[in-house]
Amino acid sequence: MSEIVRARVEDRLVKLYLKTVAQRLDAILSQAARTEPTYLDFLDQILGEETEAKQKKRVAMGIQIAHFPSVKTLDDFDFKFQPSVDQKLVRELATGRFVATAENVLLFGPPGVGKTHLAVALGRAVVEAGHSVLFVTATTLIGALAKAQAEGKLADQLGFYAKPKLLVIDELGYLPFEKQTANLFFQLVTRRYERGSMLITSNQMVTQWGHVFGDEMIAAAVLDRLLHHSHTLVIQGDSFRLRQKKRAGLLGSSKT
Ligand code: ADP
Ligand code: MG
Repeated sequence: MSEIVRARVEDRLVKLYLKTVAQRLDAILSQAARTEPTYLDFLDQILGEETEAKQKKRVAMGIQIAHFPSVKTLDDFDFKFQPSVDQKLVRELATGRFVATAENVLLFGPPGVGKTHLAVALGRAVVEAGHSVLFVTATTLIGALAKAQAEGKLADQLGFYAKPKLLVIDELGYLPFEKQTANLFFQLVTRRYERGSMLITSNQMVTQWGHVFGDEMIAAAVLDRLLHHSHTLVIQGDSFRLRQKKRAGLLGSSKT
């Protein structure tokens, strides 16, 4: 009889998508027989296990979908090496609240100071907070939009990049845009404005964006929308990459 009930419970757990509990049913039951928890504690334990397993799976899938170029976290970012980074703001952004309100983040700084590291780490934190994220470099993004336009599929491609709650665009400014492609970027920014967040990293301060976009008017229109609801992080320190080289004695400037 109890075998029939056991099989029925497992069946119902599967139907309710409580797969972790279904899989661990025997272990859970024998543990309960040993420890004799209260009914409430028992319910708490099995629901907790299932919730945790679902959260882990959701985060793993979200990270896969986001296409981050590397595995970076805030824990392995050395804030002491980069005192110009507003750590309090970074921690606040990591809660993901800025995504719920469709605010943007602009991250400026010269090469090697940790812009991509912070962009990936914040992107991960936003996935963990329960939002969809997509990471793309500015060059890839513009290439994809230009290709789609040439093939008459621009609306679909704009829709693709408009969909995630947070779009991370890395390395804006390394390669200046042609006027035509700058306009595609503008269209995307307009699509996302007040609907979805963007986190943009750039080695060029906004005063240089006229050159980046090859057109002052487009740059001004893009900035107007990006900056309306936004947070700015400026990193002013030395390159982390070069620090490692200096330590290794490859760049003469530091005495060890
Ligand atoms: P950027 O995008 O600004 O050019 P990256 O984020 O690619 O710089 O950083 C270069 C390398 O140095 C990466 O491997 C990154 O993880 C590491 N890095 C940069 N800054 C820090 C830091 N403050 N703490 C730990 N690692 C860092
Ligand atoms: Mg980078």
